[in-house]
Amino acid sequence: MQFDNYIDGRWRAGAEYRGNLNPSDQDDLIGDYAQADAGQTGEAIAAARAAFPAWAQVSPQQRFDILDGAGSLILARREELGRLLAREEGKTLPEAIAEVGRAGQIFKFFAGEALRLHGEILGSVRPGLNVEVTREPLGVVGLITPWNFPMAIPAWKIAPALAYGNTLVFKPAELVPGCAWALVDILNEAGVPGGVVNLVMGAGAVVGQALSESPQVDAVSFTGSVHTGQRIAAACLPLRKKLQLEMGGKNPMVVLDDADLEVAVEACINGAFHATGQRCTASSRLIVTAGIHDRFVAAMLERMAALRVGHALEAAVDIGPVVDAAQLRRNQAYLDVARAEGGQVHGGELLERDTRGFFMRPALVVGAEPHMRISREEVFGPIASILRAEDYAEALAMANDSEFGLSAGICTRSLSHASHFKRHVQAGMVMINAATAGVDYHVPFGGRKHSSYGPREQGSHAREFYTLVKTTYLNAGSVPA
Ligand code: ADP
Repeated sequence: MQFDNYIDGRWRAGAEYRGNLNPSDQDDLIGDYAQADAGQTGEAIAAARAAFPAWAQVSPQQRFDILDGAGSLILARREELGRLLAREEGKTLPEAIAEVGRAGQIFKFFAGEALRLHGEILGSVRPGLNVEVTREPLGVVGLITPWNFPMAIPAWKIAPALAYGNTLVFKPAELVPGCAWALVDILNEAGVPGGVVNLVMGAGAVVGQALSESPQVDAVSFTGSVHTGQRIAAACLPLRKKLQLEMGGKNPMVVLDDADLEVAVEACINGAFHATGQRCTASSRLIVTAGIHDRFVAAMLERMAALRVGHALEAAVDIGPVVDAAQLRRNQAYLDVARAEGGQVHGGELLERDTRGFFMRPALVVGAEPHMRISREEVFGPIASILRAEDYAEALAMANDSEFGLSAGICTRSLSHASHFKRHVQAGMVMINAATAGVDYHVPFGGRKHSSYGPREQGSHAREFYTLVKTTYLNAGSVPA
């Protein structure tokens, strides 16, 4: 079956179509999805531009109704959309259903945000004047998303864009057009007017680049790799576009001697390997102090041996496939590099299953050192490394020894260490006795250093990016006699 792009309120054929294959089973074709070229992307941008003035004027109640309705439709179809997500991206069915649920909740949250948007009124420092600070929609937003959360990430960009009165062009990752198409179909059903939401599926270097380079796009929100983020920034900054970039992570999880071993192991198994380790908040550097190190490694290996890897739609599978052949090769290459650098690799073997999928056992690199590539570069697979630290001070220094700063965790029973870590770790999000991955939808998401650029996503902080601030000075004049 063929799935088209959505431009100006109409489904539009692409110049070409691309087959969308299941990473658990390469013989399972999900559908053929339209590929936009630069010309069609330009039409989508023009449609968003034309729709902007009217949408910016739509009442908060109407925006609420549409977003709330979209949230309800998503939640009602949670199981079916979860199956599509698991089939297309490869996370397990429970993980996929949970992600769809989260997407629905995000739309509901931002429905409320449409009503809650407020400004400020201040007295002026000059007599006779009043000052107002108000927020306005910013215009046409380009949304460029990755494959690892194909429902939740588009939701947390599309919902605030609409809530605050913007129109948009949405370009999903090449590997997950199915979820994007379903989401846009739901928005259409929920009553979004033509031209307000436009879907252009296709290659990043074509569609994404065209969105970044177009002077008709006022802002770009991107989630993906550091390399692509830099390219987008290079294209957008000369045009003075507003930018929001969420890029990589190399998230540390510190395990101190006094940690509850069971809590620490569960947090690390979840943080490192759930969703096949394909999360920008995944725990990839497990920094363990000397007194618990050997016990922790033994417990991790025992727990890892019990993890069942297989087809994402099979019951009782803990870990689905890697997303595609290129990522699988990349994961294996990182394990080779880790071995060559002196790390001891446990697990990581390629696995055969009944279907042609990209299966590998989760891997733990013991004896990693801070200078090794496995400790510095984002892998984006089910691979974690263990760094041994003498004490808390060294562990904190190691945690901060990274160009990234997205999420960071600590497992300890010590309130003073937890409090010190919270204050001094260089990360946008801190988890105490909890996995570095797994976040709420109503609070800010984002990082520091090379992980993120621009205002935070999610929660009411999302308004920083999706609105423009205006300061008005009002001289009411003297009261008429
Ligand atoms: P990943 O390695 O996870 O695929 P990417 O950063 O390559 O991460 O992809 C994230 C998103 O960025 C995808 O939608 C992709 O198509 C898009 N993209 C890739 N190259 C470019 C580019 N040059 N300009 C804009 N977007 C791009």
